Amino acid sequence: MLEHGEEIIIGIQILMRALNINKAVIGIERNKPDAIARMRELSKDAAGIVVKPLMVKYPQGGEKQLIDACTGRQVPSGALPIEVGAVVDNVATIYAVYEAVQKNKPLISRIMTITGKSVAHPGNYSVRFGTPLSEVIALAGGVPEDTGKIIGGGPMMGRAMNSIDMPAHKRTSGILFLTEAESRRVEPENCIRCGKCVSACPMGLEPYLLSKMVDKQMWDEAEDHAIMDCIDCGSCMFTCPSHRPLLDYIRSGKAKVGGIIRARQTK
Ligand code: SF4
Ligand code: SF4
Repeated sequence: MLEHGEEIIIGIQILMRALNINKAVIGIERNKPDAIARMRELSKDAAGIVVKPLMVKYPQGGEKQLIDACTGRQVPSGALPIEVGAVVDNVATIYAVYEAVQKNKPLISRIMTITGKSVAHPGNYSVRFGTPLSEVIALAGGVPEDTGKIIGGGPMMGRAMNSIDMPAHKRTSGILFLTEAESRRVEPENCIRCGKCVSACPMGLEPYLLSKMVDKQMWDEAEDHAIMDCIDCGSCMFTCPSHRPLLDYIRSGKAKVGGIIRARQTK
């Protein structure tokens, strides 16, 4: 937004016209005052575009959470944003729309974050798709010696990678190097039914219950308890005092239940 603000406003206007809508809200968390000021300045003469400063909280970027924060509308379980009259696009998509329509340029690169406590040159890198990740990592100073785990994505939703010998692609948002100490998992203990995971879940799910259902392969019950609504935010696991691997269970359950739903739909 700071470097390509004008292009982003044009991208929003293109999408507003394509979707035949007259209002767009740019949601930006309050801890980015420079971006808020910049986008407010650029959008002041753009009809229908408003900038909305948002509370700083995780996970604010999930589309259902963002729609609620920007419009007060709540997307029902299993529904799509369009059912409450909303479409969510992230800033990179808007910029890609601008480049495609105005510059005739397909999406061939993305901004990738390389970070971690021991990374020599952490930062945001513009990376062409197909570039070997090992080359991007070399630019950032190489794999730190004390690396315990390499995470593809961010600290909450990312997944451990078993190799960096692969090309960058559209979904490679970042690489996080955890030190050995950071990557050590604490031994899980029994659930104490404290309910913290339930309070933390932005989707109103019961993570302790879903993890039990997955453990016992109760797929119908897990579907009934809306396991597919989980947005993989990791808040439940982060907050659990017993260090239960809740997200690991729920992710594997989602894969299984998703497969069952797809098979049912193709019958
Ligand atoms: S990861 Fe946990 S907290 Fe986040 S949506 Fe899924 S169940 Fe809820
Ligand atoms: S936060 Fe952990 S200990 Fe508490 S109810 Fe959830 S799974 Fe159980």
